[in-house]
This record gives sequence, structure tokens and C-alpha cells, in this order.
Amino acid sequence: MTDLVKQWIREDIRSLAAYHVPDPGDMIKLDAMENPYLWPESMKQQWLSQLADIPVNRYPDPSAATLTSRIEQVMNVPEGMSTILGNGSDELIQIICMALSKQDAKSDSVVMAPEPTFVMYQMIARFTNMVYQGIPLDQDFQLDMPAMIKAIETHWPAVIFLAYPNNPTGNLFSEQDIRSIIEMAPGLVVVDEAYHAFAGHSFMPMLSEYDNLLVMRTVSKMGLAGLRLGMLSGRPEWINEFDKVRLPYNINVLTQFSAEFALQHDDILQQQTAQICADRTILKDALSGMDSVTQYPSAANFILFKVDNMSSEAIFSALKQSGILIKRLADTSGPLANCLRVTVGSAEENQAFIESLGKILS
Ligand SMILES: *Cc1c(COP(=O)(O)O)cnc(C)c1O
Repeated sequence: MTDLVKQWIREDIRSLAAYHVPDPGDMIKLDAMENPYLWPESMKQQWLSQLADIPVNRYPDPSAATLTSRIEQVMNVPEGMSTILGNGSDELIQIICMALSKQDAKSDSVVMAPEPTFVMYQMIARFTNMVYQGIPLDQDFQLDMPAMIKAIETHWPAVIFLAYPNNPTGNLFSEQDIRSIIEMAPGLVVVDEAYHAFAGHSFMPMLSEYDNLLVMRTVSKMGLAGLRLGMLSGRPEWINEFDKVRLPYNINVLTQFSAEFALQHDDILQQQTAQICADRTILKDALSGMDSVTQYPSAANFILFKVDNMSSEAIFSALKQSGILIKRLADTSGPLANCLRVTVGSAEENQAFIESLGKILS
């Protein structure tokens, strides 16, 4: 059996560890940037009654036309641009890489991203036989422009992924730096705005200024993580090519209906986002009050922090003991050494986290 697997499964796949998602049990879940809120009861009832009439015996609309136009409207996609939907933005990263990957060994196609960043860029680059180049961020987690420029000239990347705000650092890169990168990049630049709802800054309005810019978003961090829906907007010439690689029914009927329904009630999602932003400020202030805690600026719904005289491992475990799950980034060496990442939850959840952390540090 092992020999068979060895014979046929690629070596680089066999050597990978599968993406690990811890089982939260009934812990307070502040590890995955989820929105802590459900919908108001009346909205839930309305959704349920309409859901009953969904024709689950039929294939979904292959191009999800109704949902796509709703999304373009809600997300302010500029006139003349097109949008493709994915089963989460993870699938869109995969679609981009599949379309750019070259089989010809002499012309490896390169995926580039600053690091630390979202790990799926690197993983999907590997799965699709692309070459990944990660370029370290500077000490303030900003783009190291001399290093980026040199790497772009050396590696001639087919695509550069820039998470804006960045995960797991939480900050926005300088807009001017991103513009410079778009202008000098030989290929595509994908600005990944998974956290746009919390950021107040976006490259969406800049789409028409650049031929090689794409903007990617997701509804996951806006309160709809369970639906799995991401979107990629840009010039139709690019989007039409990506559409050829997309599996025809990638957005199922339940997701198409539910996302459309939720976006009709965008005001509810926006209220929840505003609440999370207000609670982020409270959480930041509470962390600033703790002497041994260093936190980093965040334009997202999470905060990266570390504690001077205690290991992230010890803090992570002690929090877990008190029923709170956050994310430990301890395995990473370099700038993230000893860092932890906490998602902004409900006011009560944040309070429980602050109280437990306070006790652990006292
Ligand atoms: C969470 C996250 C995603 C993944 O989004 P899905 O739509 O849930 O697949 C993409 N990019 C970044 C930077 C993220 O943090």
C-alpha cells in the first residue's frame, strides 16, 4: 500500500502536512477571524421559508448571474469590470494559479508574496506546480521596497499577492508602495481584500487605472464564512480566461440563494461590522493597559500581539485551559516569533479573553 502511494503521489505532496484546523469543542472561538453574530430572528425566518422552495434537484445557475450582479453592486465594482465567483477566495487563488502555471520547465511561473502573509498563496502555488517566492516584510510589517523591486526584477513573477490588510499582521501596506509594485510588475497583482469591511481602504476604485490589477474579496470575514464565497474583479479580458478554468457549478444553489439573501440585508452585515470595529478599539485599549503586551496596529478584525516575558505557547495553553481558543503563530521564526493572534469576537467574548489574559499575566 505505502509503495503504491509512493509510486503515484507526487513527492512534494507527500511531504506536506495537511492544513490543520483545531477542534474548538465548546470553547470561545477567537482563532479564525469569524464574525461572532448570527442574523436577527425575523431575517432568519424569512430566509428559512424561502429556502424551502429552492430546487435542489436542479444544477445551480452555472455563472451565478443574479448573485454576481448583486455583489458588483454591493462591493462597488467599477463600471466596465467583470467579476468571477469562487468557492471561497481560496478557490479563486487556485483558479488564478491554474491559469498562470506553465508546464514548460524552462519558463517556471513564479508566484510572489511578501512574508509573513496568508499561507494559501504558497500552498496553492506548490499544488499547481508554480515556483513560490516569499519576500520578507520590514520591521514594521511594511513592504520592503528595495527587496521587492529586486525580487520582481530577478524572478519576473506571473502574479504577486498582496493581502490588504495583511493576515496575520493586521496592517495595511502603504498605498504608494502598492501602486509602485503594480506599475513595475510584469504580470498580475492581486490585492486580496479579505478584511475590506474593517479597513476603510480599498483598491477597488483603482481597478480602471491599471491593466494588471485584480481585487479579490470574500464574504467569509463579513459573517458568511459557512457559505464559502469569494469574488475576484478586474478587466474582463483576465476574468474571461479565469472563467474557463472554473468548474461550472462551483457555487451551489444554497450558497447562491443565501448570499443573495444576506446581501439584500447588507445593512445588518454593516451594523455587525461597525460593532466589531468598535469592539476592536475596546480590545486594543485593554491590551495597551497591559504592560508586558506588545500589540501591532490592526485594520482587520483581529489583533496580533506578543508578551515580553512569557512564551506564546504558555499563553495559548493557559487561555485554552480557561476555555478560550486563539491562534498561536509560534512555529514561525523571524518577526512572528512568539506572536499570537486574537480575533475580535462579541463584547462578552472579548471581555472573557481580556480577563483571562489579565489573570495569566498577573
Ligand atoms: C481568510 C482569508 C482568505 C480566505 O477567504 P475564504 O473566502 O474563506 O477562502 C483569503 N485571504 C486572506 C488574506 C484571508 O485572511
